[in-house]
Amino acid sequence: MAKSVLVTGGAGFIGSHVADRFLAEGWSVTILDDLSSGREENIPAAARFVRGCITSPEAAALVRDGHFDVMCHLAAQIDVRRSVNDPAFDATRNILGTLNLMEAVRTSGYATRVVFSSTGGALYGDFDPPPSTEQFSKDPEAPYGIAKLAVEYYLAYYGRVHGLDTVALRYGNVYGPRQDPHGEAGVVAIFCNRLLDGRALTVFGNGEQTRDYVYAGDVARANFLAGTCELPARGRLDARAFNIGTSIETSVNALAETLRSVSGATAPIEYAPARAGELARSALETSKARAILGWEPQVAITDGLANTYHFFADRRARLAAGGHA
Ligand code: NAD
Repeated sequence: MAKSVLVTGGAGFIGSHVADRFLAEGWSVTILDDLSSGREENIPAAARFVRGCITSPEAAALVRDGHFDVMCHLAAQIDVRRSVNDPAFDATRNILGTLNLMEAVRTSGYATRVVFSSTGGALYGDFDPPPSTEQFSKDPEAPYGIAKLAVEYYLAYYGRVHGLDTVALRYGNVYGPRQDPHGEAGVVAIFCNRLLDGRALTVFGNGEQTRDYVYAGDVARANFLAGTCELPARGRLDARAFNIGTSIETSVNALAETLRSVSGATAPIEYAPARAGELARSALETSKARAILGWEPQVAITDGLANTYHFFADRRARLAAGGHA
């Protein structure tokens, strides 16, 4: 019988790529999503779709009775600014929702491996120059990152105390087709749409702040490998955590230039005051993922940005022709 995976948040940007990946590997895929930021058209036709919120008793029952080999948990409130404005809402979804699912795994008695989508970009402090290793000091700036870190502590606890099989993937800024302007790499979607509108690209600060942009297809492959490979012994916080990035720092200026060049558009770049609380530099060191998951990024940023731009351009063309997004 085919192995089975539950992808929470599978109607979203990264989750839909994760679902695609498991389907391509011959797995049976169930998606749990409340469609709060996801889209029905992202759900692969071959996947089973259950609409529901991760905080609900129905979601817990699905996990408890589903006998999934793997649960890739991506469903989350992903808007960092919303987490600042309403930390209780963020914690309800991102901490309590996750605990609802984890308790269901614990009481199911079934050995479901849990692959959690954490963040590298919003987790590490600004103490040491990048690239950050998994052991770098954590000092999340916003409630969004605080919730991710809290969940990672819970996962380590479930591993040590209850013997559950858990792993955390700490992503850089994930970009690619189907991405949303509100996510951590939202700037890519925003710039693509502005180029298509023929409007100026707004850069906050001097544009030399850097991020580690990692392609969604590469992140999906990391989820598959983390769901299926042999993992290190359970332990403290970082024992089963893996950075997933390229280790390359890309500045906002370089991102804007590359997107202008792949799009062929000549929109100007305009500068606005720097935003408070933004990290100056960020990139992730990934030798642990290479050694243990057998993962490495395969898509270079120029190719990934070109794919992403063309995705948005095609979506516009379909909408203009009266089709759906
Ligand atoms: P997304 O908004 O496209 O996907 C999240 C999905 O979860 C959506 O389909 C949404 O409808 C669903 N969802 C939200 N709340 C839910 C709930 N309570 N119950 C059920 N479904 C719910 O965002 P994304 O960028 O694909 O992010 C996926 C995961 O990766 C998130 O956990 C996010 O924190 C994490 N992550 C993303 C990035 C990035 O750069 N995009 C970086 C680090 C970590």
